[in-house]
Amino acid sequence: MLDVASYARGEWVGPGDGARRIVHAVTGADHARAGGAALDHAAMQRFAREVGGPGLRAMTFHDRARMLKALALHLTERKQALYDASYATGATAKDHLFDVDGGIGTLFVHASKGRREMPDDTVLPEGPMETLGREGRFLGHHVLVPLRGVAVHVNAFNFPVWGMLEKLAPALLAGVPSIVKPATATSYVTALCVRMMVESGLLPEGSVQMVAGSLGDALDHLGPQDAVTFTGSAATGRLLRGHPVLLDRAVRFTAEQDSLNATVLGPDAGPGTPEFDLAVREVVRETTTKAGQKCTAIRRVIVPEAHLGAVCEAVAERLARVVVGDPAEDGVTMGALVSPEQRADVLATVARLEAEAVRITHDPSGFAPVGDAAAGGSFVPPVLLRCDDPDAARDVHALEAFGPVATVMPYRDADHAAALANRGGGSLVASVVTHDPAVARAMVEAMGPWHGRLYLLDRDGAPEATGHGAPMPHMIHGGPGRAGGGEEQGGLRGVKHYMQRVAVQGSPDQLSGVLRRWVPGSRRDEGGPHPFTRVWDALAPGTGITTEPRVVTSEDVETFAAFTGDTFYAHMDDDAAARNPFFPGRVAHGYLILSFAAGLFVEPAEGPVLANTGLDGLRFLKPVVPGTAIRVALTVMARHPRTEEYGEVRWHARVIDGEDETVAEYELLTMVAREGAR
Ligand code: NAP
Repeated sequence: MLDVASYARGEWVGPGDGARRIVHAVTGADHARAGGAALDHAAMQRFAREVGGPGLRAMTFHDRARMLKALALHLTERKQALYDASYATGATAKDHLFDVDGGIGTLFVHASKGRREMPDDTVLPEGPMETLGREGRFLGHHVLVPLRGVAVHVNAFNFPVWGMLEKLAPALLAGVPSIVKPATATSYVTALCVRMMVESGLLPEGSVQMVAGSLGDALDHLGPQDAVTFTGSAATGRLLRGHPVLLDRAVRFTAEQDSLNATVLGPDAGPGTPEFDLAVREVVRETTTKAGQKCTAIRRVIVPEAHLGAVCEAVAERLARVVVGDPAEDGVTMGALVSPEQRADVLATVARLEAEAVRITHDPSGFAPVGDAAAGGSFVPPVLLRCDDPDAARDVHALEAFGPVATVMPYRDADHAAALANRGGGSLVASVVTHDPAVARAMVEAMGPWHGRLYLLDRDGAPEATGHGAPMPHMIHGGPGRAGGGEEQGGLRGVKHYMQRVAVQGSPDQLSGVLRRWVPGSRRDEGGPHPFTRVWDALAPGTGITTEPRVVTSEDVETFAAFTGDTFYAHMDDDAAARNPFFPGRVAHGYLILSFAAGLFVEPAEGPVLANTGLDGLRFLKPVVPGTAIRVALTVMARHPRTEEYGEVRWHARVIDGEDETVAEYELLTMVAREGAR
């Protein structure tokens, strides 16, 4: 019997007298007991706010990202132990990949996004600068700062590792400590993962705690700087969302709930097309992975009327080949449901669905799984139903059988297909299997408002497609309505749930100070040697030069045209150029101006500037006529460390004409050697 303890204020506590019993999904034997210890939730939350929060906020986003990567590597080395523990949840080796490897993958993605898309800082700028005053002396910029509270993550049983890590990664990256409350049924896997992370020594004290068993009165102590993220059934979601303390104190609440996800087989995807086969394979995979205990699994298969029979036959034939039983036995392809209660719930839901749909597969109740040890386990074979009148049906669009169960139903035309998919009342994901981009477009418009994710599958994307049921950390996960209205992951969007967005308004110098980045209009420093002779570490934002002028002549324009082959009439023919509404007559090439600008500001001798890696935001603002003298004001905007050897410098380049007006503006990116590098 495993004991699942809580991890509170740096100590493992319990289980206590009121511990909950957990059975082994495969054998049905007693397997673990969790919780039951008296936890002081108020003290745990204080510990998170007063110890965990400051520890995390002392680190920059890059420090936290490095910590996530180190945690991911640490868990990778120990994932066999997590697989072994997960076996008791009924999971197969393939299911482990989804939960354990998927969870670790989420840490890796957040680590990499944190390093690439966030500054090495503790304040996160967002969006463009807004010019609020006419002269550019009063500006606005949004920034995000971490909440000063604690995030309480309440998770579902089906993904004990992924479910925790997909919430923990963004919270830690944001700089907010977390208290994890796994679902009791699989909490022994989550607890093992938490133990591994704690023992790694990588987490600042107080940044992660865990509640085993019931959540107790944890929600009663939360306040406006705290957040609750919930994953589970719509019924529990409703209960938590309406908790008086969350309402009274405006505690942030995000819900990822169940949903009646659909797949739509396009009108073009009949039998014999690659899309038909892809759809069948996807339905079978979604029905059987994790024994259908996946919030994103396909519950409704919406197909053209003409292909209803063919789809039912093809899916049923594939499902009949699924080998259900003890995942430790050779050849088993689908494992058990998590508990006898879950099995009873699924069978009862199937019975209700049978009032509206015909069962195509065998009776799931009297079923014998493969493996001697599995006789007492919580097994249900795949169940396929066919609903011939989906317009009249209600339960097939509303009841989630959280197991290996799907219902096929016919549609008349594309509008009808979308209307049926939307009857789920808000879903996490729907797939559209079509090779016709016009169908894809129409479905995105018709189904988009009701779905958090639309997965478009065809023969071209299939070799790399990530799967209907797999939320990707780069893309948002969540859905409207019944699905909870939440939006997790989605790259940095998920991180921002744990931060406060602040609209900062002030002068250019003030905003430069806040953003730690030079802002056009703020102070520049032109003293000292040429910036190209300075190492990365010495290039403070605001460091700059203004070059000598250079006159652009007609000969320059002609030479450039002959050399590059760009003999566009606006550069070559005075009359034709003058007929163009943008030009007074013949003008210099924009790329000539850019090239001359580089010629003006570079320092040619070998030095710390290593490479020009691109430019952003190029705008040609005023035509340059031959005879114009141009200069460049070059300023360091921001620096980003890359390696021990070099870092990136973002420069602001403004090309100015003789009337002091800007003719071109852009941001230039270079790699510059760091202090002490060879
Ligand atoms: P659940 O029964 O709603 O439980 C979810 C979590 O809420 C568990 O940690 C549970 O703890 C806790 N909980 C239950 N009642 C509570 C209460 N009164 N107060 C505080 N906490 C409470 O869901 P589940 O059976 O674990 O998971 C299956 C459901 O989750 C399915 O409907 C599935 O679709 C959904 N799901 C959604 C997503 C998503 O991302 N949208 C992902 C996975 C699963 P105990 O276990 O200790 O009761």
